[in-house]
Amino acid sequence: MPFGRALSGTAGQALFRLAGTLLLALIAGLIFGHLGGILIAVLSVYLALQVLNLLRLDRWLRLRRTELPPDINGPWGEVVATVNRIYRRKQFHKARVVRLLREFRRLTAAMPDGAVLLGPNNEIIWFNRHAASWLGLRRKLDFGIRIENLVRDPQFIQYLKDQGSRSSVTIHKPAKGDRWLELHLVTTSASEQKLVIVRDVTREIRVESIRRDFVANASHEIRSPLTVIAGYLDALVEEPQLDALWREPILEMRRQADRMRGIINDLLELSRLEASGTAPSDQSVDVGGMLALLRRDLESQEQRPRRIELKLESTAHLRGSESELHSIFSNLVSNAAKYTPVEGEVEIRWWVDAAGGHVAVRDSGIGIAVEHIPRLTERFYRVDPGRSRKIGGSGLGLAIVKHALQRHDGTLAVESVEGRGSVFTCHFPPERVIHI
Ligand code: ADP
Repeated sequence: MPFGRALSGTAGQALFRLAGTLLLALIAGLIFGHLGGILIAVLSVYLALQVLNLLRLDRWLRLRRTELPPDINGPWGEVVATVNRIYRRKQFHKARVVRLLREFRRLTAAMPDGAVLLGPNNEIIWFNRHAASWLGLRRKLDFGIRIENLVRDPQFIQYLKDQGSRSSVTIHKPAKGDRWLELHLVTTSASEQKLVIVRDVTREIRVESIRRDFVANASHEIRSPLTVIAGYLDALVEEPQLDALWREPILEMRRQADRMRGIINDLLELSRLEASGTAPSDQSVDVGGMLALLRRDLESQEQRPRRIELKLESTAHLRGSESELHSIFSNLVSNAAKYTPVEGEVEIRWWVDAAGGHVAVRDSGIGIAVEHIPRLTERFYRVDPGRSRKIGGSGLGLAIVKHALQRHDGTLAVESVEGRGSVFTCHFPPERVIHI
């Protein structure tokens, strides 16, 4: 340890000097007599010199920012040099930290995203320029205030409470230039502080809304002429004088018109689900009754798996929209039937446990290869497009299921083994379950 070694060297040097001075005083006393007087005089001068050096050191320590270190030699000079070294090292590190901080501030100010640093109780510690202007935060005034008191969006407050269980939350700020902001909470286990990254997603939201409106409008516009064409085709098929040569092409045209109608209806339903920002209505939906009806509908179909099982393990209802829940379950049940051969089986199950309410539709059909599973809920995604089209699939069924489930705070889980069958399970949180 150099500091300890320097000190002990300095102390040794001081002791050596004191011993030398005393020895000289002793010799002078012995030669000239008056030993006591000479000793006192020499020690007094020695002490005065020490006090003087101490005062010079003290003055320099107080004025070290502006004054050069005092020019003292001997042990006091060593002390001054050591203190000066420590001071200069500290100044160097301080300048480095200040430089880094300035650079960090310049970078965060230039960042296209906003950033807010929060303390353990969500109090604001720091924020950059974008965060200030988008969230309406005021420098200095808002430091130390809890962010929930300034960004009062209920979705954001819930997101903070859940400690970012979702990846991000999007909030609307009509007052601040009508912006849509995406807030993303970053936490680390090493620190109690959190960072909220704020992104302006107004453009994305607008483009998305234009796309949605376009799809909805185009579907509406196509629906009317298609109804007319399908009506004429229906009439033509019934026409007894129709040339036998034309019967098959017209039947095929009618089938395709029906398919188009199915796609347009699904597109319109999907647009409706996506466009509606409000929560679905709060009806008490009898899940058991709804599933029993779906099973009966399926049993009345000509082409269907032979065995259709219904296992109702609860009489509980679900809180939500009857039509949307019907859409979820009917899409899953009709898929199970579509992708399962006649000799296969379908099982529909409803049960409630501590985790919430669950509806599972299991089939022993063709199954799905594992690489397709994450993409099934994308619009128009089909494992085998040719097969899906042939059996009348629009490719939109599972996208509708996903959206309607999201609106009911639910999730979809898919398990499948190719060639063995699949299980599609809808999980609803306990708050949605109404015990009867
Ligand atoms: P589609 O109208 O084509 O059935 P969906 O969105 O309902 O569209 O389903 C997407 C794709 O997922 C289907 O094309 C099919 O490949 C696959 N799929 C859905 N349900 C099942 C199932 N029960 N068994 C096997 N494959 C399925």
